[in-house]
Amino acid sequence: MGDTNHSNLHASGDTLHRRGLMFILSSPSGAGKTTLSRKLLEADHEIKLSVSVTTRPPRPGEIDGVHYTFVSNAQFDAMVAEDDFYEWAEVFGNRYGTPKGAIRAALKQGQDFLFDIDWQGTQQLYQKDQQDVVRVFILPPSIDELHRRLKGRATDSEEVIAARMERARAEISHWDGYDYVIINDDIEVCFAKVRAILEAERMKRARQTGLIPFVRELMG
Ligand code: ADP
Ligand code: 5GP
Repeated sequence: MGDTNHSNLHASGDTLHRRGLMFILSSPSGAGKTTLSRKLLEADHEIKLSVSVTTRPPRPGEIDGVHYTFVSNAQFDAMVAEDDFYEWAEVFGNRYGTPKGAIRAALKQGQDFLFDIDWQGTQQLYQKDQQDVVRVFILPPSIDELHRRLKGRATDSEEVIAARMERARAEISHWDGYDYVIINDDIEVCFAKVRAILEAERMKRARQTGLIPFVRELMG
């Protein structure tokens, strides 16, 4: 009898209900947040990408509804007017926004969301929902390496790369608005750190809403 109770407690301990979290990865353009996001979504099936809406045209390989939802300026205006966004910002002359959609309800049910957004969006999300937000900032190992990565990605013209480099310093200056900062030197080492943060944050007492009945049963 005692043994049965013991194993029941262990089984339910592995599946305790918890609140989902909003995991934000930001970095200056080219430091690696897209690469890290893709790896995380492949490796961890409890987290889902919050797909942003943008007025920027798709890059080769980007799929509408998967990487972004691509809309016209007029469509974006309409969404702003309808108050459809958690937050939105203008970056490099294009607008990007986080649609509210079903995020709130899903968080309550334990779904985690990944946000690949800049510091402006991070601040706005944090102001709206401090308890659910985890803010991670990725830094490049050096400015030279950042430049090499932007050139190596081969998705942008020389002018766009120059503008991104110009902006990188301004983006880096917001490093102190984040809970965690990781230098992306070796991608695998950096990725392991991202996963460690996510795992630890999932275990925070305040998120584990199933703890109260569980502990009550333990003490019963
Ligand atoms: P971001 O989303 O921050 O703009 P990306 O993830 O697109 O950056 O990375 C920019 C380029 O740098 C890509 O070509 C990517 O493959 C490469 N890259 C990312 N992380 C590393 C790393 N740790 N070492 C070497 N190259 C990297
Ligand atoms: P890119 O055009 O390279 O995909 O993204 C440009 C910048 O826009 C990145 O810094 C990215 O983090 C930011 N961004 C993408 N989606 C959103 C969003 O929904 N809100 C905000 N505020 N920024 C976003």
